[in-house]
Amino acid sequence: MSSTATSGKFDRQALISLDAIRDNVRQFRKVTEPARVMAVVKADAYGHGALPVARAALEAGASWLGVAHISEALVLRDAGIDAPLLAWLHTPDSDFAAAIRAGVDIGISGWELEHVAAAAHEQERPARIHLKIDTGLGRNGCPPDEWEALIGRAQAFQDEGLLRVVGVFSHLAVADEPQRPETDEQIDRFRAAVAAAEDAGLHLEVRHLANTPGALTRPDAHFDLVRIGLGLYGLSPFENQRAEDLKLTPAMTLRTRVANCKKVPVDQGVSYGLHYRTQEPTTLVLVPMGYADGVPRIASGAQVAIRGRRYDVVGRIAMDQFVVDLKSADAGFEPGEEIILFGPGDDAPDATDWAVASGTINYEIVTRISGRVPRAYTGQSPEPAAVPEGAGPAAQTAPSVAAP
Ligand SMILES: *Cc1c(COP(=O)(O)O)cnc(C)c1O
Repeated sequence: MSSTATSGKFDRQALISLDAIRDNVRQFRKVTEPARVMAVVKADAYGHGALPVARAALEAGASWLGVAHISEALVLRDAGIDAPLLAWLHTPDSDFAAAIRAGVDIGISGWELEHVAAAAHEQERPARIHLKIDTGLGRNGCPPDEWEALIGRAQAFQDEGLLRVVGVFSHLAVADEPQRPETDEQIDRFRAAVAAAEDAGLHLEVRHLANTPGALTRPDAHFDLVRIGLGLYGLSPFENQRAEDLKLTPAMTLRTRVANCKKVPVDQGVSYGLHYRTQEPTTLVLVPMGYADGVPRIASGAQVAIRGRRYDVVGRIAMDQFVVDLKSADAGFEPGEEIILFGPGDDAPDATDWAVASGTINYEIVTRISGRVPRAYTGQSPEPAAVPEGAGPAAQTAPSVAAP
């Protein structure tokens, strides 16, 4: 995936505001302190670019980073990011030895423990692990009735010096629907699991349960650390609340330019299958993005913005392009006019509008924007190399310590 500095020239672009990322981190810190914030930057930071987002989040006071895969964590470490970092989804082929060498914390649901202990033995370096309890999501995590046994196995390896249990965590299932009772049950089970670990003599650095919706609605789920993904990108996890209601700023603007614009007669069929026919003589704009760029093929019914006005997507979305109907024979735009598919503010649709048109959630809309769309950034800090010698690491970590 290419990431370039902002320039005026683009055919297709996902423009990421790192200032929005920083503002969103500060907002979560305000809402959740004294708990700390883990910036979840898996899946290339939900399509926003893992490295620039991770750096911006740390600058704004996030103290942890989280990813699904060890391979994602290693990319961050290879780029010189040394913040506490957790990876939680593994297979027996995952490179636990590399995670240990790179100082990446490893989430453990059960079977991984022996693999990690063996890798630690081989590396002659203890692993740092977080034990995951399944409090009700029914996905990853240790079933409650196997929890005591897992604690015992972990403690035995810890006594051998092969690992250190630094955390206990779990994941919420329905926090985006705050009225549902299951979150209460999950919090209760989590408290019990933490108590069991501590009663067994484990000294935990971090207990963590809440994702974005949990952090926003359940102070009793904050514990020591909240794991923030969607909210970091300025998107709302709730059906009935917009980002602005939550004091969050969408970070991504997906934009392109008019590739063609032409007058057509009434009853002009549009795109494969000719499922759309013009109702009157009108003007059609050709948008040079399609499902190869991650625009959902199913999203006819969505809108785009051109010069602050919204127009309907009509006909099938194809691999590389789709069409919008200006619904006027007199309208028209020159090739090159900017088209915004989604972005912050009221002038354009947002990612949630595209999600509704596609029968999916805003998480998927931003994450699926493909590598064919160059990412560009505003608000980028100077490269670490530009920091004067001697002021290096201290100067870089100072803002995260001093931030309000
Ligand atoms: C993806 C993920 C998160 C982040 O969830 P959001 O709803 O995007 O904040 C947190 N924890 C785990 C375990 C995850 O997989």
